[in-house]
Amino acid sequence: MTAACLMNTYKPMALSFVRGEGARLWDDSGRQYLDAVAGVAVTNVGHSHPKIVTAISEQAGMLLHTSNHYRIDWQQKLAHRLTQLSGLEQVFFNNSGAEANETALKLARLYGWAKGIEHPLVMVMDNAFHGRTLGTLSASDNGAARLGYQPMSGEFVKVAFGDMAAVERATRLYGERIVAVLVEPIQGEGGVAVPPPGYLQALRAHCTHNAWLLMLDEIQTGIGRTGRWFAFQHEGIAPDVITLAKALGNGIPIGACLATAAVARLFTPGSHGSTFGGNPLACRVGCTVLDIVEEQGLLHNAAVQGARLLAGLRDALAGHPEVADVRGLGLMIGVELKRPVRDLCLIAAREYGLLINVTRGQTIRLLPPLIIDEADVDRIVAGVVGALGEWRSVEEHGPSGTPMR
Ligand SMILES: *Cc1c(COP(=O)(O)O)cnc(C)c1O
Repeated sequence: MTAACLMNTYKPMALSFVRGEGARLWDDSGRQYLDAVAGVAVTNVGHSHPKIVTAISEQAGMLLHTSNHYRIDWQQKLAHRLTQLSGLEQVFFNNSGAEANETALKLARLYGWAKGIEHPLVMVMDNAFHGRTLGTLSASDNGAARLGYQPMSGEFVKVAFGDMAAVERATRLYGERIVAVLVEPIQGEGGVAVPPPGYLQALRAHCTHNAWLLMLDEIQTGIGRTGRWFAFQHEGIAPDVITLAKALGNGIPIGACLATAAVARLFTPGSHGSTFGGNPLACRVGCTVLDIVEEQGLLHNAAVQGARLLAGLRDALAGHPEVADVRGLGLMIGVELKRPVRDLCLIAAREYGLLINVTRGQTIRLLPPLIIDEADVDRIVAGVVGALGEWRSVEEHGPSGTPMR
């Protein structure tokens, strides 16, 4: 078997997993790892959770797909649960995060159209990541992901993240045409960037004042990641639209766009759709994920273990010559380094049996499942500190022993 038949879009490490249980993964040689990536904020309730296994296998034996030409009870159930948890009123289901954001962007277009704005603009942020469809790529700010795909859609106004003065300046220039702000409460791919306290509240007030929609991309921050169901709940605001995906299915593909009734009403039969979106399997698993988060007290655990992880890292890395900043909320934590780092994920995996992620070249991103305990947290701290030390000595003295690849 070779990878030659796959399009060359990823650069996977020489690691392949065959089994997972809770926060643990096993590779094809039987070695165990602690998973502090969770498939990039996806497997929040852990691998092979027995309730998810049961939901998938029961539903597979009963009914997988009928199409949205028929009523789907699990879809209605999941929509009801999500509206109860978020305070938003209606849901459209997709299969991925990018599609959920496309749904939000289409709502923003309809909103502008209803107001008679001919060329509507959506305000987005520096370093934003909203997906890889042409629309969501245009809303994103990742040079490598955009390279060669020009022309980007010209319907976005980009401002500095976390900076209300930048919002005010763009408003003076383009305010008449702006219909919405699309923003991640905490930027994930953009380096675990946490905005100053009060930022979302200020954006909410600004959007309300200008009659713009506040649309929050909670695809990475949602479903308990930050210690609340949704990150916006830390600031006690009411957004007009939020998007979800990743952890909502714990590995089964699903996306969702939630909106207030006033916004959702812009859709009418035929104006949007999806073949797979909202299928019985994905929606049943979504309901099961929400059950598990509730039954196992995972919001509380994410807050408690997240605080322990943040404090542990800050303590262990205080004054570290390579570390610029340690930040995060709940179990979404970034360790920003002073220079780009290579092979750190491989060193952590090989030397410490720890799976971590690095984003934007020099920010270690930790997104462990919400089920981790104190011992796991301490093992993550030790692994990150150890891997950083190992990386420095490799940088300085060259690799010792076996080569990295
Ligand atoms: C992952 C992610 C997306 C894209 O989701 P896909 O399912 O890969 O399309 C969009 N926005 C944010 C904030 C994400 O983290």
